[in-house]
Amino acid sequence: MNADSVSGPRRGSCPPARGRAPNVILKEVVPGVHAIQLGVVNAYLIEGHDLTLVDTGSPGSGAEIMRAVQMLGRSPREIAHILVTHCQPDHSGGLAEIKRISGAAAYMHPLSAAVVRGEEPGRKLSPAPGFINRVLTGAFIRQPPWKIPWAHVEHEVLDSDELDCTGKHITAVHAPGHCCGQLAFLYHYRPANGALLFAADTASNMRKLGLSIAYEDLACGLRSLAKLSRLRFDVACFGHGDPLIGQASERFNEKWGTANGAPTCD
Ligand SMILES: [Zn+2]
Repeated sequence: MNADSVSGPRRGSCPPARGRAPNVILKEVVPGVHAIQLGVVNAYLIEGHDLTLVDTGSPGSGAEIMRAVQMLGRSPREIAHILVTHCQPDHSGGLAEIKRISGAAAYMHPLSAAVVRGEEPGRKLSPAPGFINRVLTGAFIRQPPWKIPWAHVEHEVLDSDELDCTGKHITAVHAPGHCCGQLAFLYHYRPANGALLFAADTASNMRKLGLSIAYEDLACGLRSLAKLSRLRFDVACFGHGDPLIGQASERFNEKWGTANGAPTCD
């Protein structure tokens, strides 16, 4: 598919919740998958007979996500599954609130679930190479201890697990480095017979495809990117930045296809 098939953003017309920004930007990435821009971080909705939410934004993002659901003509109670890519607060911070509103079940890697349940402390991140990453890490990365509302996680997800969420075929891919409990999700969408990778914070696409600004373990993160490069997907979606539309796995492979060894989480 090409960029022409991406629809323009919708802006919310629902009345704003108290204390929240009035506009929600919702953009269809591929048929049935919608990006919700929550400031500098993205969440995603997959539509089917019910809804699957991918990531939950920072604490307090619930109102914006619920408004996005309503903009699709759906009800918050239709969110049945919440896939949380990793434990850091800009992705898991809204989980407890959204579970409370929707009653949805949460899915996470065990190493991230332990943090979100309050059983383990978060882990420190170091900037990726380069001056800009050092500046951005200082400005935007919240280092532990994190103050996020603890949440129950019903499903612990491991590498290669096949998930049946919203009647869709979704494969989990463990991709440690940015976070040792980082999951990506490969989603085969129809009727176009395409594949979309929810790459989360394994990489970013802020103006261009590149590394995330910070990693727990950069070498491990590069091996994970090589692992992702070996998959086949035409679209990639990120926690930060715009979707990459068209030949996305080829773009990953050009940048990161040569790192050797399996990702580890030492
Ligand atoms: Zn993030």
